Amino acid sequence: QAFKAAQYVQSVYETVISRNPNESEFHQAVKEILDSLIPVFEKHPHYAEQGILERLVEPERMVSFRIPWVDDQGKVRVNRGFRVQFNSAIGPYKGGLRFHPSVNASIIKFLGFEQIFKNALTGQAIGGGKGGSDFDPKGKSDGEIMRFTQSFMTELSKYIGQDTDVPAGDIGVGGREIGYMFGQYKRLRGAYEAGVLTGKGIGYGGSLARTEATGYGCVYFANEMLQSKGLSFQGKRVVVSGSGNVSIYAMEKAIQFGAKVVACSDSNGYVYDPHGIDVNTVKRLKEVERKRISEYVDEHPHAQYTEGCSDIWSIKCDIALPCATQNEIDEESAKLLVSHGVLAVSEGANMPSTLAAIDVFHEHGVLFGPAKAANAGGVAVSALEMAQNGMRLSWSFEEVDAKLHDIMRNIYNSSVRAAEVYGRPGNLVVGANIAGFQRVANAMLAQGIV
Ligand code: GLU
Repeated sequence: QAFKAAQYVQSVYETVISRNPNESEFHQAVKEILDSLIPVFEKHPHYAEQGILERLVEPERMVSFRIPWVDDQGKVRVNRGFRVQFNSAIGPYKGGLRFHPSVNASIIKFLGFEQIFKNALTGQAIGGGKGGSDFDPKGKSDGEIMRFTQSFMTELSKYIGQDTDVPAGDIGVGGREIGYMFGQYKRLRGAYEAGVLTGKGIGYGGSLARTEATGYGCVYFANEMLQSKGLSFQGKRVVVSGSGNVSIYAMEKAIQFGAKVVACSDSNGYVYDPHGIDVNTVKRLKEVERKRISEYVDEHPHAQYTEGCSDIWSIKCDIALPCATQNEIDEESAKLLVSHGVLAVSEGANMPSTLAAIDVFHEHGVLFGPAKAANAGGVAVSALEMAQNGMRLSWSFEEVDAKLHDIMRNIYNSSVRAAEVYGRPGNLVVGANIAGFQRVANAMLAQGIV
């Protein structure tokens, strides 16, 4: 009897749902991958015989822990911390830490699961992991941030190491937090293990171009998609959601490529600047002054601020770069973008489009760069940071940026190729999922049932 790939995949999905109840984001991430893999299982049933999928959807390890800290009023506060070590077939667990009140087991697992395939796509030797806390950094003093991150690291340090698990930043965790965590880790270990965290400052083991990498990479990826149709960023109207690290450097590179970025946002609302967003103002407001994006209009009076961040997708644009957070583009927003003639969408955030939104883009022939591929530049340069730490040397900005550009081209090409081989030409969701999966699955096959 013929192996029924679709039925098999569905049964694995049902197990995931029953074993992980109420984890809708995790279910969504698993569904997207599993649906893409049906043609792979049809062609290669031995992956199923070896239980590759059943093993992939179950994290190797997941820890959750208490984070006690004292606020500026002297009050004791308690948050919850997580680290999921999802898959180590091709390298030490690698993935960021997110500090945001929405963080729970479902969010960490969806991010960790995606990270497996993203990291494989980069071609670097990094497995998949993720962590974080439901701590809300908004409005916290620098002292509170330091005490919290030190307490977080006191517990996390038991599970990480430069050859086992290497965290980095994500939402709410940037250079400042990485610095405090590195200091605490070094103090606990009594050794200078530079490669235990990435996204470090340039003065103590960080890599040039790491800060820029996710945003630049997202634009490099979009550029590859556009070029395949004889198009470019030159003269295009671009909307970039978010105003954090990913968004800022996506805007910067899009502008360098000749585009006009007309809007960006934060979790409260968005600014529309018909003259083109001034990225230096956004950088100063967000990175130095840690203010809200609404303050942008004080310095640029011709710009407009609108309350409500999801409405940013009602602005007409040629290229949309969602760089804020998961599920920020739903079906309705996708339809709005399509009705305004959007040509390309390249995802800088993790899972910013819902499954229904992705369908809308595909149905209307929009060039769609899925997060796993389009935002892999950040973690790719993290792997380059680990390499430099291992060799105790540092590459120039130009050298790292050139490697990043190459990696993004390779990710694009291998995604295009996999989509063609498995009968879904042009579908980069399917292509990226299959290309990432095969690298991990083959390593798992070679290593036996572990
Ligand atoms: N948080 C980023 C991501 O989602 C970067 C992770 C890393 O550099 O380890 O891929």
